[in-house]
Amino acid sequence: MKTSVRAMLYTKQLYRAEVELMNAKPQLKRDKGIGELRRIAQRECPGVKVVAGRGASIKGNLYSFAQGNLIVLKRSQRCLGVLLHELAHVQGNQREYDHGPAFRRRYLRLLVKHSKGSLGI
Ligand SMILES: [Zn+2]
Repeated sequence: MKTSVRAMLYTKQLYRAEVELMNAKPQLKRDKGIGELRRIAQRECPGVKVVAGRGASIKGNLYSFAQGNLIVLKRSQRCLGVLLHELAHVQGNQREYDHGPAFRRRYLRLLVKHSKGSLGI
């Protein structure tokens, strides 16, 4: 499937915003055990499988990813922020696998819910 220019722009914007958010709210990037991350994921998406893995290689870099009901978290990304990002993918329409408006709504809902008010949003 060809990635549209709009989809690439959405992804670039989202990743930039995530860097700022995670720097401002370090609790989102604090290392968590895979067991705790699995419990959080199960509460949000019963049936989702969260595994510790290498991640997917994209242009020589490894990234955590979601595919269907599977989330693979690489070692350096086992944190709440990355888990919520991947859960927002799992909760979405698997045919539209991008970071557009629908994804952003799901992701923001998860961030607000799991920040317990600490994000100031
Ligand atoms: Zn994503």
